[in-house]
Amino acid sequence: TTPGGHRVKEEKIVVTVRLRPLNKREQASKDHVAWDCLDDYTIVYKPLPHERIVQPTSFTFDKVFGSDCLTEAVYDDGVKSVALSALMGINATIFAYGQTSSGKTYTMRGITEKAVNDIYAHMMNTPERDFRIKISGIEIYNENVRDLLNSESGCNLKLLDDPEKGTMIDKLVEETVINDHRLRHLIGICEAQRQVGETALNDTSSRSHQIIRLTIESSPRESTGCVKSFVASLNFVDLAGSERASQTNAGARLREGCHINLSLMTLTTVIRKLSVGKRSGHVPYRDSKLTRILQHSLGGNARTAIICTLSPASSHVEQTRNTLFFASRAK
Ligand code: ADP
Ligand code: MG
Repeated sequence: TTPGGHRVKEEKIVVTVRLRPLNKREQASKDHVAWDCLDDYTIVYKPLPHERIVQPTSFTFDKVFGSDCLTEAVYDDGVKSVALSALMGINATIFAYGQTSSGKTYTMRGITEKAVNDIYAHMMNTPERDFRIKISGIEIYNENVRDLLNSESGCNLKLLDDPEKGTMIDKLVEETVINDHRLRHLIGICEAQRQVGETALNDTSSRSHQIIRLTIESSPRESTGCVKSFVASLNFVDLAGSERASQTNAGARLREGCHINLSLMTLTTVIRKLSVGKRSGHVPYRDSKLTRILQHSLGGNARTAIICTLSPASSHVEQTRNTLFFASRAK
């Protein structure tokens, strides 16, 4: 059971998918809703009359969330237990994966907020331990690393290899927060910093990865018989648009000036290898900045939740299908 007394599904990688509603632009054009949730676990394609059917038309996951589901449900089913494991010294990472405009940022913001609520509730309910929370914010754009909490430090921070701590980011600001109010404020700064880049560099968010990393330490107060100290990272990762990972569609990609994103490609390989397990051989963590930074929070003892966000629109069927294939392979 988790600190809150909830049952934990012990899976290392939890994969869920979330459909958003049609947006106004899609409603105004001739788009229709091309996907439906058959039940809590299955998403199905709804072909138009006379449409040539491409197989497969249905995909099954740990959980699928329809367009009427709230972020709360997405958090409770699959993410919460992964996030709370960081309070027990187990590194955890939560990803939002999906094409641009499918709802990654929308979902990740809500998830982060709910996790922060739960972490502070747990701390309140655990007076026998002392907790310390640190936050840092990282953006990876074009394989360059930027500190979202320190705009002065430039956009090309170095990665260093520490024999004990693994990959460290040189000069990255890590602030110990005094309360949840301060933590929310700093998360807000990270989000605002990313948007600054977005307008200046023309839609950075479709090309960049954002990581909000909490480091949670706890140790027993002296008066108790409890002896163990814990430290773990909890990473909230809003990924670049998944159209930058697809190997199909080369023509369309060139037309749209859509470049393959090394970190995203490497991450999909790493996750696929981890899901296959021990027999998959070498895991190429070192091939990209994103996977180097997250190495100790992926695989091994770490727990991972991947929320794949989907546009329901018929005009995006091909990208949605790519996301569903990725999600299937991640399991
Ligand atoms: P991404 O980060 O994947 O590019 P966004 O999170 O910015 O996409 O979402 C695109 C738009 O769709 C935003 O205006 C967002 O508010 C809206 N949106 C996304 N997901 C949902 C949802 N589940 N319910 C309602 N609106 C959503
Ligand atoms: Mg976004």
